[in-house]
Amino acid sequence: MSSSPADLVREFHLAFGLDVRGTPTEVSTTLAAHRGELLAEEAAEVAEVSVDGPLDRLAHELADVVYVAYGTALVHGIDLDAVIAEIHRSNMTKLGPDGRVARRADGKVLKGEHYEAPDVSAVLRRQGWTPGGSA
Ligand SMILES: [Mg+2]
Repeated sequence: MSSSPADLVREFHLAFGLDVRGTPTEVSTTLAAHRGELLAEEAAEVAEVSVDGPLDRLAHELADVVYVAYGTALVHGIDLDAVIAEIHRSNMTKLGPDGRVARRADGKVLKGEHYEAPDVSAVLRRQGWTPGGSA
């Protein structure tokens, strides 16, 4: 059994009768809102323990966010691993050809002249998404 988040969360959804879709799909407003609320709750729990911890709580809540995010992607039929790969490809273009990184005063990495924005729409189209299409 793979231990990738996508596979683990799929196992969970299948075991508990939760939605699983294989193609990017616009779901009902009720379901979409429910998934958004679940993720917001977990993100709020991360915020609660981000500064004062303890570290095991932070690790737990971070994992909950990832788990729920993968679940939400699965409900919508999105292959999230492929989307993350595209975000990573784009992020790596922030590195200049000289290998230097431009940073803001707070440490955030800035986009250089070679930056390429992620094309998430293209990734979803490759997964079978029809923008504006109905389920
Ligand atoms: Mg939690």
